[in-house]
Amino acid sequence: MKMRNVLLASALLLSTCNVMAQTQVIAHRGYWKTEGSAQNSIASLLKADSIGCYGSEFDVWLTADDKLVVNHDPIFKLKSMERSTAANLTSLKLDNGEYLPTLEQYFKAAQKTKLRLILELKELSKPERETKAVEKIVAMAKKFGLENRMEYITFSLHATKEFIRLAPAGTPVFYLNGDLTPKELKEIGCAGPDYHLSVFKKHPEWIKESHDLGMKVNVWTVNKEKDMKWLIEKKVDFITTNEPERGLLLSPLPNPLR
Ligand code: MG
Repeated sequence: MKMRNVLLASALLLSTCNVMAQTQVIAHRGYWKTEGSAQNSIASLLKADSIGCYGSEFDVWLTADDKLVVNHDPIFKLKSMERSTAANLTSLKLDNGEYLPTLEQYFKAAQKTKLRLILELKELSKPERETKAVEKIVAMAKKFGLENRMEYITFSLHATKEFIRLAPAGTPVFYLNGDLTPKELKEIGCAGPDYHLSVFKKHPEWIKESHDLGMKVNVWTVNKEKDMKWLIEKKVDFITTNEPERGLLLSPLPNPLR
């Protein structure tokens, strides 16, 4: 009898979770907090796929010789992303022993996965360079047959508008900087806000406002269980996290591409 009660309670809990769970999990800089991985490495992309994330986020720079590379830091191991050549940058090793990847290598690896690719273009030194980077990224996504799996994010308002202008219609483009209201984002054609947790703590009403305007909501970087639960309750569409396994336990939604 006791066992039956436990089973009933578990079934009830599971069904409640399923009704509530609407939040997809995105690995921030890939799934890197695990053995053999490193931030923005190809391993982190494959590991995000292997645990069933909806998407994997990664950061992209335009090098001095106009190539695209994947890394977070403006200066990595004393080399500036924008002032070094791709050959120089890709000779640097990440913490897991991999070489710093080009976007081309990253896309090639991504073809084998079912992930949504959440590409962040870092803010570059000039708007013209951002436009050039957006043109190259969009062309490369097409070349690799990944157009339908791309989502673009950036802190730069200029690059946001360029992605909206140049990516195929319907490609989600999210703005990261936290300073525009949902209505302002809608007006420029954004898919929605992708803001820091603190912005939504200050403006929790922006979640519903975005949904009412037909937009989606992504929140970064959400690592604590209590914050994840708060956002899942608020029905945000995505949480971007350094703890994707924790997120997937709380919101085990299947990736629609699987
Ligand atoms: Mg990023």
